[in-house]
Amino acid sequence: MIMHKNNRREFVKKLIKVAAITPILANSALNAVADTSNKEYIETVRGKIKSSKIGMTLSHEHILVDFIGAEMYDTGRWNHEEVIKIVSPYIRQIQDLGCKTLVECTPEFIGRDAKLLKKISKETGINIITNTGYYGAADNKYIPAHAYRESSDQLTERWLNEFENGIGDSKVKPGFMKIGVADGSLSELHKKLVIAAAKTHLRSGMVIASHTGPALPAFEEINLLMSQNVSPEAFIWVHAHVEADDSKRYKAAQMGAWVSIDGYSEKEKGKYVNWLLQFKEMGLLNKVLVSHDAGWYSPGEPYGGSFRPFTDVFLSLIPALYKNGFNEDDINQVFVKNPADAFSIKIRNI
Ligand SMILES: [Zn+2]
Repeated sequence: MIMHKNNRREFVKKLIKVAAITPILANSALNAVADTSNKEYIETVRGKIKSSKIGMTLSHEHILVDFIGAEMYDTGRWNHEEVIKIVSPYIRQIQDLGCKTLVECTPEFIGRDAKLLKKISKETGINIITNTGYYGAADNKYIPAHAYRESSDQLTERWLNEFENGIGDSKVKPGFMKIGVADGSLSELHKKLVIAAAKTHLRSGMVIASHTGPALPAFEEINLLMSQNVSPEAFIWVHAHVEADDSKRYKAAQMGAWVSIDGYSEKEKGKYVNWLLQFKEMGLLNKVLVSHDAGWYSPGEPYGGSFRPFTDVFLSLIPALYKNGFNEDDINQVFVKNPADAFSIKIRNI
């Protein structure tokens, strides 16, 4: 759906209302500098930036997702110009709200298109981070045939090749790994993906974001990584918000893993505020990532289908957090420092 002028006007009205109740638009959090070491960097689709320059970050979103499956996968199924025209206004909305970086979590064979992401980044000026790795959730629908027969070492070589030489002929390098596992105990294939990710991490320093959901596979992944001498600090437990037992999230954070509560929308406000207050209370605010898992352009649907904007975090969650006692440092911690730390290219071994 193309954003109309009226929507834009409505949006600006909302923005002014939010500015009145939260300092976020006017204060330093917007331009906050993460206090990571100067040497640390993040790999964006337009090249390396210092980690301290990441700014306000949405750590799990999607620009384009194609659910057709690995067998039928073809980046020719969408037109760059059309996608750019439809998606850019949604990017500009969050830029107006202070967002500087968007982590695009769509893996290869589900719609990762490095050239497209680079064009959108150039067009809008936002930093975009893309990924390497394979997604095993959804009954392995997005796993390419070669991944069944190849060893973890061979998969590692493929992912490292992208890290070192770029994705295809795009010259765009991935800034993290995105893998995915089913929500039960890890299958042999999914164990292989995790081990390949561990080996890739130890040779690249890319963090491992894994679509996981419940705690059961999350802790199996953490243990498997540790068996490969990879620290839990190199692991992002993606979709951790679906776990019913709150204590599991705090336990993973205490072990050093990144806990990604990335399904935010306005109707989840109460839950997210409570969780974040609890993370703060327990001294674990430095281990949590928050995002919407929103978007995206859907190839095959007219004008890419319906697009969920990336704005609720700014328009409802951050104002609610301020009302509930969060200060600028806390907001800065969750939306600037944590992504800077998580996505910095650095080897985290044990
Ligand atoms: Zn996602």
